[in-house]
Amino acid sequence: MKRIAYARIAQESNSLSPVATTLSDFEGSHYLEGDALLAATTEGPEVAGFFKKAELAGFIAAARARKSEVEPVPILSAWASSGGPLAKDCFEELESRLVEQLRAAGNIDGMYLCLHGAMGVLGISDPETRLIRSVRQVLGGAPLVVSHDLHGNVTQARVDAVDALVAYQTNPHRDHARIGKKAGAIAIGTVLGEVKPTMGWRSLPMILGGGKTIDFLQPMRAVFRRMRQVERAGDALAASTFMVHPWNDSPSLGWSTLVVTDNDAAAADRLADELAEMCWERRHEQPPKFPGASEAIATARAAKIRRKLGCVTMADASDVVTAGAPGDSTHLLRALIEEGKGMKSFAAVRDPQAIATLWPREPGDIVALTIGGTLDPTSSTPLPVRGAIVSKHERHGFGRTVVLLVEDVRIVITEGPSMVMRPSFYTEVGLDPFRADIVMVKNFFPFLMFFAAYNRKTIFVRTRGATDFDAAFQLPFDGPMHPRDPVDDWRARDRVRRGVT
Ligand SMILES: [Zn+2]
Repeated sequence: MKRIAYARIAQESNSLSPVATTLSDFEGSHYLEGDALLAATTEGPEVAGFFKKAELAGFIAAARARKSEVEPVPILSAWASSGGPLAKDCFEELESRLVEQLRAAGNIDGMYLCLHGAMGVLGISDPETRLIRSVRQVLGGAPLVVSHDLHGNVTQARVDAVDALVAYQTNPHRDHARIGKKAGAIAIGTVLGEVKPTMGWRSLPMILGGGKTIDFLQPMRAVFRRMRQVERAGDALAASTFMVHPWNDSPSLGWSTLVVTDNDAAAADRLADELAEMCWERRHEQPPKFPGASEAIATARAAKIRRKLGCVTMADASDVVTAGAPGDSTHLLRALIEEGKGMKSFAAVRDPQAIATLWPREPGDIVALTIGGTLDPTSSTPLPVRGAIVSKHERHGFGRTVVLLVEDVRIVITEGPSMVMRPSFYTEVGLDPFRADIVMVKNFFPFLMFFAAYNRKTIFVRTRGATDFDAAFQLPFDGPMHPRDPVDDWRARDRVRRGVT
């Protein structure tokens, strides 16, 4: 019987957010060890409130298929919502718990480790490679397979530290469990001596391209189809394209492709190269340009019938909490109050100080205070409002929450991350999106699925904040970066990044 450990430490960091992620952000969202992790990954839900089954349940499915040969050994799983980089002490605590518990687990023959791939830590560069190396010290030569979100950043040091690396093949992401199963199967096959994972990878000096980067829409559809095809044909154990989280402050940031074959280095290189070329061909298709708040509100006002049949959903694209923004922006909120009169709007803002002020008050009370603009004062300013308290709530993940009515806007003020991606963010506090004209979300893609029943028109709004695409242009890179700078050819930098002479 081979004992294969499994664990997760995952968070997507936006290095432009000044709000550091702390241990309480993990422990308040998702943190499980040992038997509790085994129960969550065998019976579910794996991540309460978010995923019934994710990567680790996928790994368990792979282990079950070989249950006479493999024993899955749960270590720990920690997940926090996107946000600023981790505080150093938070990272070091998680790292030491992972290492200690892996040691305490006894003899281990291999491991599956689920990491985001775009996690940042204040004061530590390439922290996930460090985490992998720390795990390696315990594992010795035992196989280690790692999975990433496709927004992860790959480095040569990362590739050198793992036996195989695989990423999601969907954007918006909906294959967490399938990827965990695939990574698990590779780990198990390697431990049992049935396969010998061999990687080829390529790194592109490119942070934006591929249009909307959705897997089932062009221009990226052909790339995703090709990856699945080479896996189905048995030419590769796994094929991945990393479209990178552009607000990651790694100097060697960029899209990358990575192919894992069974002991065929030439094929891995050839396929990674082919996928990289396909991505580079799509580099000029940039993300769409979004209107400002005034134009968006005017468009919503004109959409009378759609508002009657459901709601207009406005994605606050400059303050996307699920991409790590602080969620305290007041730009769109201010515009909805001032320019959205006569339309019933639902909006969200994170402000722990305002919650402290409002919490002792009662529904019906009229209050005057400033909200928002305090967590990231470089992006927006606090907004003075006067309104009536509608309701108060204590919620898992969002913390204490107060609904405040200001003019025609119901503002959901949260103490924790204002992660508006699902209708439940509003319905849980008594706000029915069917009764709204405009509903604000702080998300790029998944809300399109979750709000489908309500949404009659989607408007992405650009104001100013940590998730503006070009906000990433201020970051330091290891050379010219597409599309910020003209780059004629990707291969020269790829060779430097891979250390090929
Ligand atoms: Zn992602």
